[in-house]
Amino acid sequence: MTTDKHFHTIIIGAGPGGLACASLLAQKGIDVLVLERSRRIGPKVCAGGITWSGLARHLPAELIEKPFSSQHIRTGRQQTVISSPEPIISTINRENLGQWMAEKASRSGSTIKTGTYVTAIGAKEVITSSARFTYDFLVGADGSNSLVRRYLQIPVVHMGAGVQYLVPGNFAEMVWHLDPDQFATGYAWIFPHKNCASVGAYANRADMSPKVLQEKLHHWMAKHGMNTTGLKAEAATINFDFRGFHFGNRFLVGDAAGLASGLTGEGIYSAVCSGEAVARTIIDPAHKDQKLARLIKKHRQHSRLLRLCGTNRQFAKIILESLVAALRTKIIHFSALEMGE
Ligand SMILES: Cc1cc2nc3c(=O)[nH]c(=O)nc-3n(C[C@H](O)[C@H](O)[C@H](O)COP(=O)(O)OP(=O)(O)OC[C@H]3O[C@@H](n4cnc5c(N)ncnc54)[C@H](O)[C@@H]3O)c2cc1C
Repeated sequence: MTTDKHFHTIIIGAGPGGLACASLLAQKGIDVLVLERSRRIGPKVCAGGITWSGLARHLPAELIEKPFSSQHIRTGRQQTVISSPEPIISTINRENLGQWMAEKASRSGSTIKTGTYVTAIGAKEVITSSARFTYDFLVGADGSNSLVRRYLQIPVVHMGAGVQYLVPGNFAEMVWHLDPDQFATGYAWIFPHKNCASVGAYANRADMSPKVLQEKLHHWMAKHGMNTTGLKAEAATINFDFRGFHFGNRFLVGDAAGLASGLTGEGIYSAVCSGEAVARTIIDPAHKDQKLARLIKKHRQHSRLLRLCGTNRQFAKIILESLVAALRTKIIHFSALEMGE
């Protein structure tokens, strides 16, 4: 064991949540260390969809891969296209987003150590395979399987899973396919990128295992003329079991806090919003973050709808068909499904 250095704040995880938090703290002159287990910041199993209102409008244009002002939504009984003058959802490449956010955090003065796996946490210290660091504040931005969350002894019961293939080609439409017989309360998607599309499916793990989800995705892709031969399946969990984010001098953000939507699996906005809110709270302990309060309210609404749909399959069909009919007739706005404002 080498170093024994002290930092005001240590952030574990250089995903969007950790990096958003680091940038704001460092801008205020706070001595912040970000520890990331991967050698390269950014790559993550993700469809890369970001909403205009939540994030896309705040990012430089070169980070946007494809903007979509129409969303094609299909169910067993309806097909509808929701359109808007602004792009509703745009796709981004997670590696490009990660590199851009890391550069911003470094330029602000954060220290980022990649290839550094945190193996243990103590009341005042963080242990990696080669060093020991001490902290005043600790931020767990370490994703769905968070070590910080386990250290805080906060259980995770409600978890989603996503599986995707990156299918080469030029895809024109952004598609959501809600089919309770196949995906229960989840859905299958086509999110087009520059030279490929993320074609995947999301489901609540309480409804099916990732293996069953993958089989159902294969079936759905075959039905829609897509072949998985030679393609590699990518899968990961999405924690939506939110039980608080502030625990004394320790915080959880993004997937570690369970702030992704259980209904849609959207979690990038939640990570950035909670990362920034935690930074503001560390800077000023009296800070009450209105944006995070609205996000938590949205998260609760999504969880309630998910619970309602989860009670029985026929009920889920009625709710999801009614939801899509309400979107089609503009009784509700697409933003009701988004985590952003
Ligand atoms: C298939 C799939 C599709 C998705 N599609 C979308 C989408 O289209 N839009 C959307 O908004 N969201 C989507 N999500 C969810 C989104 O990817 C996450 O919600 C988001 O990445 C959460 O960000 P985060 O910063 O909280 O965590 P992460 O992005 O998971 O970052 C956590 C970081 O912590 C690091 N880490 C973990 N443990 C340690 C450790 N012990 N030591 C050091 N470092 C550690 C990891 O390497 C990682 O870099 C999808 C998820 C999946 C699985």
